[in-house]
Parts: sequence; C-alpha cells; structure tokens
Amino acid sequence: MRPLRPNRLPILTGLLHDRSVRLAVTGLSGSGKTAFITSLLDNLLSAVGRPARLPFLRAAAERRIIAARLSAPDGETVARFPVRDTIAALAADPPHWPPSTTDLRRADLLLRFTPAGFIGRAAGGTAKLGLEILDYPGEWLLDLPLLGQSFPEWSRATLDLARRGLRAPLARDWLDFVARHPAEGAADPEAARQAHDLYRAFLAACRTQEQLSLLQPGRFLNPGQITDPSLLWFCPVPVAIGAQAQAGSMAALMEARFEVYKRVVVQPFFVQLARGVDRQIVLVDVLRALNAGAEAFADQRLALETILAAFRFGRRSLLRLLFGARIDRVLFAATKADHVPALQRDHLEGLMANLVAVPTLRAQRARARVAATALASIRCTEDGTDVIDGHKVDVVIGLPEGGHRRIRFFPGIVPVTPPPEDFWGERFTEFPVFQPPRIAPAAGDGVPHINLDKTLDFLLGDALA
Ligand code: GDP
Repeated sequence: MRPLRPNRLPILTGLLHDRSVRLAVTGLSGSGKTAFITSLLDNLLSAVGRPARLPFLRAAAERRIIAARLSAPDGETVARFPVRDTIAALAADPPHWPPSTTDLRRADLLLRFTPAGFIGRAAGGTAKLGLEILDYPGEWLLDLPLLGQSFPEWSRATLDLARRGLRAPLARDWLDFVARHPAEGAADPEAARQAHDLYRAFLAACRTQEQLSLLQPGRFLNPGQITDPSLLWFCPVPVAIGAQAQAGSMAALMEARFEVYKRVVVQPFFVQLARGVDRQIVLVDVLRALNAGAEAFADQRLALETILAAFRFGRRSLLRLLFGARIDRVLFAATKADHVPALQRDHLEGLMANLVAVPTLRAQRARARVAATALASIRCTEDGTDVIDGHKVDVVIGLPEGGHRRIRFFPGIVPVTPPPEDFWGERFTEFPVFQPPRIAPAAGDGVPHINLDKTLDFLLGDALA
C-alpha cells in the first residue's frame, strides 16, 4: 500500500467522519419489522459492552465500535420509532411483544468506531456513522404497479383475482353491491364510499382469514397519515378497457379518485424511498405463508414479485427509471427462524434465496447486491432433539405466550424450493406464538437473535469498515 502524504490526512479525516447510511426496513404486516428494529437498535446500543452478541458483525467482533447512542435530528417530520417503549415491552415481567408497525417511522443511531484499515487508523483514530432507519409497511410497495396501470386495467385485474379461489366467497358482499350500482350509472358519492368500505372489508378478510398478501391498494389496509380520507374512497368497478368513462358516471368518479391516489399518495412515497434510501431490508414471514397453505403461499410469492419489481436492478430498474433511486443493497430475510431448528433454518434460507433468485442475478450484473437470509430478530427458543416413533428429530423448545410450561415443538420439514402440489396434502404445522425472552431494561446486554449480526454485516459492513 502506498504511504499517505501527511498533508492529505485532513481531507481523508473529513471523509471518514461523515458517513451516513439510510436503511429502509419493510415487510408485510406482521412480518417482524418492529421486532427487527428493536433488536437491531438494542444490540447496536449494547455492542460496546457486549460485542459477543454480534460475532458476525465484523466491526463489533473486532471491538471497533466504541460508542453508540440514539439521536433525534431537528425539524424531522416523520414520526419516531418508539424504541424506548418497544425495549420496555421486552424488559417487562413477563415480557411481551411490542405493537406492530402501521405507519412510516424513523429511528436514528449514531455510532463511533475505529476504522478497520490502515488509512482509517492513520487518519486519526475514530470515525462516525449516522444510521437512519426508516420503517414502513410493505403493503405500500404493492402500489408500484398501479403507476403503470389505467383504472380500467387495474379494475379488470383486481376483479378477476377477486372472483377466484379463496377470495371469491369473501368478495361476495362487495361484488353484489357493485353489481347493484352499475359503473355507467350516475356518480353517487355515498354509494362510492359504501363500495369502498365493502372492498376494504374484503381485503381485511383476505388478510386475517386466509393470510393472503397481494392486497391492493396498499393504503387501504395501512393508510398511514393520510390527511384527507376521501382520497381512498374508490374501488375497482367493471369498466371496458380502452373505453372512456362517461362524464358524471360512477366509473368516472372512481377513476378520478384512483388517479388522485396515484398522484398524491403513491408517487410521493416512491420519490421519498428512491431518493432517501441507500439500503433496504425486506422481511418475509415465509413460515406463516407455508403454514397457511398452497394459495396463501402462491399469493405471498405474487406479492413478493411485486415488491421485487420495486428493487429490480439494471436497466429495467423501475425505481431508478421512475425516480432515480440509489439503493445499492437489498436483503430479503425470512423472519422468525427460531420457530425451526438449525438444519431447517438452512432450508428456510435456501427457500428464501430461491424465491428471489432471478433478481439476485440481475443485481449482480448491475453491481448492486441482493441476498437472502433466514433471521430471528428476537430468539425465543432453543434447539433440542426428541425421539418420535423411534426416530431422532430436531425440535425447538420455548414458552408459548401466556403459558406456564415450555413446550417441545416439532415444526416439520421446511422445503428448500417452492413446494410441489403433493406437499400441501396435509397442512404445514401451525406455529405457536412464543413469549420473547426478558431483556435488561437499560441497554447493555443486547437481545438474543439468530443471524442479526450477519444481516447487519451485509447491510452496514462497508460503512463500518
Ligand atoms: P410488523 O407488523 O412487521 O411490525 O411485525 P412485528 O415485529 O410486530 O411482529 C409480529 C409478530 O411476529 C410479533 O408480535 C411476534 O409474535 C412475532 N415475531 C416477530 N419477530 C419474531 C422473532 O424473531 N421470533 C419469534 N418467535 N416471533 C417473532
């Protein structure tokens, strides 16, 4: 390595001292965003005193993180991630899960560290990393395709989907109402609102009763801070593709609201995401979808493909084409991996990798990095073995929420590739909700996890080098 000339040191020192990374965290509702951010913050805040919690985050393992504190930038308009409350939930007796993400939230962490290389050390000892974390509902990403669709196109696709499979019985009330209020009829704002309410109730039932994922528009179930709720009072209606809606008709009213929603809600969100974010982690509850059956799994795949389109790299990168994105690393993480024992966690990681294989290759060509992992942000179980029918099997052992005795849980075999038809003969095991481990109220000890350190090394390793 070439020796540095002393008069260049101040410039290098300046460069080293001003690193910042904006990390966005997303995933569909219940995928584990709140748990992930809580564990990330608590473990990084504890990394100075307890670096052994993060053995695969190089900066921690090498004891180069020398200070960590939360910060609160002035004039910030995005709501703060309630980290004190989420840590308090895990420190309570008994500990409990903090409430989930429903809106855009932000947390800021300032890390001081010793750079790894010769240049860093020569330049004066320590550097700073400002880590800004944005937490937002993954449902909002499902709106990206809407930007390229006309109202008739979107209506047709959504109605087709609603008439099939598990959705059909849940869509009945909404579809009956829409049939009684024809799209060509005179616009009736009250009827439009009722149709919207019924459509929204249908989406909610798809999510809670059938664990379906591809539920558009994303703001109908996760509205966030929308000041004018009437922006959302629309739904798909049967209209011919290519035909112009008659002025003053129900179709024209619905279409106008759909277009306003795209312009006022969807576009600004993607602008903010593209311009303001360097790194993205997408959390996916693969185990829940496996558990819910063939259609829920297929639906999660479709939703994931829609989300992937947002982070597609290379010349066809939508986010870059539309908004000039600068995101250069994306990690897809299958969450709650502590529901399955060690070998099955490898399977889970394999399955996650398989689901994002194509964009991963494309990203490599575009010099971006996309990877997959299996992760437990908050590890609630330990591994063990049992003998079932004379065979030794791996199990996980943990305390079910609200229970008094730990259970030994055999989760079945996680497929490494998207499962074939015959896999779905029997329902995949139903997973218990385990009580989280109790942590120390003041940062210091960190939160038990699986692979959080590897995840952080992928997302932040270069910024802490
Ligand atoms: P969000 O909607 O994406 O913010 O999801 P949460 O972080 O609130 O997680 C939803 C639920 O999943 C939690 O209440 C827990 O029951 C469960 N969960 C999340 N992360 C983990 C984990 O690492 N291990 C286990 N066992 N359960 C988890």
